[in-house]
Amino acid sequence: MSLAFSARVREDLIRQLETMPVDLLVIGGGITGAGIALDAASRGLRVGLLEKNDFAFGTSSRSTKLIHGGLRYLKQLEFGLVKEVGSERAIVHRLAPHLVVPEKMLLPLYEKKGLGYWLTSIGLKIYDLLAGVKPEDQRRMLTRNQTLRQEPLLKPEDVKGGAIYAEYRTDDARLTIEIIKTAHEKGAIIVSYCQVTNFIYESEKIAGVQVADPITGNSFAVRSKVVVNAAGPWVDELRAIDHSKDAQIADKVGPARPYDKVGQARLNDGVGQARPYDKVGQARLNDGVGQARPYDKVGQGKRLHLTKGVHLVVSYDRFPIKQAIYFDVDDGRMIFAIPRGRTTYLGTTDTNYNESKDEVIANHEDAVYLINAVNRTFPAANLSLKDVESSWAGLRPLIHEEGKSASELSRKDEIFESDSGLISIAGGKLTGYRKMAERIVDKVIKEYFSQLEKRCFTDSIPLTESNFKNYSEVKNYKGSLAIKLRVLNLEDFVGYLVHNYGKQCDAIMNRLSNNLEKDTELALLKAELWFGFEYEMVLKPADFLVRRTGLLYFNILRLRKYKEAILREFKVQFGWTEDQSVLETEILEKVISESSGFLIEN
Ligand SMILES: Cc1cc2nc3c(=O)[nH]c(=O)nc-3n(C[C@H](O)[C@H](O)[C@H](O)COP(=O)(O)OP(=O)(O)OC[C@H]3O[C@@H](n4cnc5c(N)ncnc54)[C@H](O)[C@@H]3O)c2cc1C
Repeated sequence: MSLAFSARVREDLIRQLETMPVDLLVIGGGITGAGIALDAASRGLRVGLLEKNDFAFGTSSRSTKLIHGGLRYLKQLEFGLVKEVGSERAIVHRLAPHLVVPEKMLLPLYEKKGLGYWLTSIGLKIYDLLAGVKPEDQRRMLTRNQTLRQEPLLKPEDVKGGAIYAEYRTDDARLTIEIIKTAHEKGAIIVSYCQVTNFIYESEKIAGVQVADPITGNSFAVRSKVVVNAAGPWVDELRAIDHSKDAQIADKVGPARPYDKVGQARLNDGVGQARPYDKVGQARLNDGVGQARPYDKVGQGKRLHLTKGVHLVVSYDRFPIKQAIYFDVDDGRMIFAIPRGRTTYLGTTDTNYNESKDEVIANHEDAVYLINAVNRTFPAANLSLKDVESSWAGLRPLIHEEGKSASELSRKDEIFESDSGLISIAGGKLTGYRKMAERIVDKVIKEYFSQLEKRCFTDSIPLTESNFKNYSEVKNYKGSLAIKLRVLNLEDFVGYLVHNYGKQCDAIMNRLSNNLEKDTELALLKAELWFGFEYEMVLKPADFLVRRTGLLYFNILRLRKYKEAILREFKVQFGWTEDQSVLETEILEKVISESSGFLIEN
């Protein structure tokens, strides 16, 4: 069984970080930071990772939950990227076959929308070849009748044909926590609910970070040779603290101006005169505190451009599509509808975002856009806002490109490095987390630990202990678990349990059989909670109900039925006072109500 990763060891982990410097400190426990921590720890670096909330609290629990082959990159003719993400998804599937699961996607084709039949056929063929898709899984073109048989809910008048191609679905938050746990096994010192509030400098170079721990109310310092900023949508906030973000100019002296030509960036410094940067790649500004600060040496002057993406969840009975579908919308965008357990989820939107990064929620307009888009393509579904059970909204931490709209921005990742030595990474996809980590760790090793020659080998590190060898093993395991669950009248949970926990279900089943109670469904949930407390650093109710189990999104009925019982378990586990119980209950209720807040028109 895995190493304990629970509240009991948290203080010890913090002490380890406080008392001995690390080689590499990663800020952010989303998939990017998790991947970097695993790669670096497995190559022998002493690694620390700090996450200000729960793991995957940011974008990494709010995606479409697909391990993409990158079909949209093909449209943008980014062949290299299609090849890279295409081979990556096969690797990630091999590392966690229960969690990254093959999913056939239906692409309906229309007369006046999309690429048309022949271009789609050629495009998907290229996609399969670049992504190395096995012949039996390669794209299949469908006639109009075949498409309508495949999905009877489609509006028949419009459909001209269709295609079926290979994708993988996952659970982003579970993928992140499994990478975090594996990094912890490899020796990375990882702590959640610890916010990096400032940097420590020595001779103008970053030498560590200051940290605030909201759980104990303490603050502490961690010294590190290198600091990597993998804070997703918050990347620029940390770059601003480091004074290495150009948008900071905008913050202080009005809007930042576009560069007038490469290497000749100018800004209006508020005193009526545009000043040239002093040399290419070494732009400086006086930020009004008496000291000229360096700009980034790599990625100079770049900044994030956040776009919001919303997903809605309806019950499967209300939108019973036979399989995942990727369909065109009138405004030229494309939307996914994906069945998952007792629900179907829809998404996504893509709109510019400038509000709070800590409370990103779907609004009425987002919800209406998605519902209308579905109803136009699937009129028989006739969905309304009342059908929506839950929702989530996430921010894409994209790199700003002057003059481009939200949907046109590249999804490629980029690394920025400031003169202080802060390495930041942003952009990218869940799918590319391993390659992003490899690029960062290669760079760190080359620049700071050249004696360490070890190359990246995360493509051979399974993401859960006693991993499945392939997807057939996953199916067999489901069969044997179903027999055990049937006796307890819990057979409906087989798919959920196996895709969430893989063979870790054995530990949960053991716990369950020793702690049975009349309500077996509750007993199962308590066994899962025990597993979360012991091995997955569950510290708050939402850690468990949103990011370890996905109940808020995919089984809100189970959440509502058992939330009081779960809160009672937390009270016992952490010895909460009455006041703390009231506060934690309020926090959870807020999280629940935010996932359906768009029902109130604003
Ligand atoms: C709507 C939507 C759909 C998407 N769908 C897909 C998809 O289907 N497939 C795919 O491959 N990709 C998809 N993506 C992209 C993918 O989800 C993101 O690229 C990825 O999750 C980004 O991960 P991250 O770790 O960089 O950021 P995050 O997950 O946001 O992690 C950053 C973390 O840093 C923490 N942090 C911030 N500041 C501090 C601080 N000061 N101290 C400590 N911690 C801090 C935050 O709390 C956060 O947890 C989608 C994105 C969106 C928005």
